[in-house]
Amino acid sequence: NMGRKFFVGGNWKCNGTTEEVKKIVTTLNEANVPGEDVVEVVVSPPFPFLPFVKGLLRSDFHVAAQNCWVRKGGAYTGEVSAEMLVNLGIPWVILGHSERRQLLQETSEFVADKVAYALSQGLKVIACIGETLEQREAGTTAAVVAEQTKAIAAKVSNWDNVVLAYEPVWAIGTGKVATPAQAQEVHADLRKWLHANVSAEVAASVRIIYGGSVNGANSKELAAQVDVDGFLVGGASLKPEFVDIINAAT
Ligand code: PEP
Repeated sequence: NMGRKFFVGGNWKCNGTTEEVKKIVTTLNEANVPGEDVVEVVVSPPFPFLPFVKGLLRSDFHVAAQNCWVRKGGAYTGEVSAEMLVNLGIPWVILGHSERRQLLQETSEFVADKVAYALSQGLKVIACIGETLEQREAGTTAAVVAEQTKAIAAKVSNWDNVVLAYEPVWAIGTGKVATPAQAQEVHADLRKWLHANVSAEVAASVRIIYGGSVNGANSKELAAQVDVDGFLVGGASLKPEFVDIINAAT
């Protein structure tokens, strides 16, 4: 994949108890996987478990928050600021997940502001984009993901700390995984868009990962696509098969 390091993120969403979290982390800590030079592994527990997971997790895996506030912290009840994540040594944050775009009405503009602010504070960002089934059936997939990426590109000048997660909404939590050809097509289109609208360098270097019903069985064929640089995994990241997905890197 053109020297882009494979990236596997595990999005635990709003799941888990202390006991369950301990069990998942133990499984990951005992897993036989390639080194950090081959695959970058990041798991994203809910906020309350972040320090606990960070403390317990093997040192070659890292943690991500699932969201953060759009600007500097202050009088924003219920929010968690980028500065707090930095203060806790949390290196990554997932932003713009489709569940937040859909259930909490986060717009592309708002997501882009969050991405820019998180980067400005030194966080690394997994920025999520993706079309709905309706948009795909209307033939607007390329336009939708370009628009979502454009909002981010308008506010971000340095893409070194950005991973772009292409997550078709119709594939998230549905068991309907995109075919390798469908994923490859959108990833290649995104790279073309970045080439034309950002730079050749960013188009070649930014990692574009796929998310949506990835599991141990389908990950290998998806990973073989030239423009698929890894995965963002929901449901399967809570199960031992997450280890198989990490091993799809090789
Ligand atoms: C996700 O939430 O980012 C996701 C891809 O979920 P799932 O793997 O469960 O479809």
